[in-house]
Amino acid sequence: MDDCIFCKIVKGEIPSRKVFENDRVLAFHDIQPLAPAHVLVIPKKHIASMNEAQEEDAAVLGELLLTAKQVAGDLGIAESGYRLVNNVGPDSGQLVYHIHVHVLGGEQLGGLNV
Ligand code: C5P
Repeated sequence: MDDCIFCKIVKGEIPSRKVFENDRVLAFHDIQPLAPAHVLVIPKKHIASMNEAQEEDAAVLGELLLTAKQVAGDLGIAESGYRLVNNVGPDSGQLVYHIHVHVLGGEQLGGLNV
């Protein structure tokens, strides 16, 4: 997607502070962190949101979660705990329409306790 900011990050056209990368996924620090640890995990393939995800995306969607776990370990927040968030659509507050998992931690998290 030419006008997708996260596709531009994948292509290196916009800088990011990467914490993990392989052929399929990329993890980088959020530019406006909402917690002491705040990393985004994205697929390199453009998927706008969970609403657009297809059966063929099952493997990479699973890899997002496993990468999030790995990132939490690397950041040292696995034992204290962390939250994984995936916003879908306007009511969730999704701002970037390239699917991503937020990894949030490093403090006692407030907000919705679902
Ligand atoms: O889930 P949502 O779409 O609201 O989150 C998008 C996130 O992408 C925001 O937390 C924002 O700070 C982050 N972002 C970023 N780097 C950019 C643009 C947005 O980390 N260049």
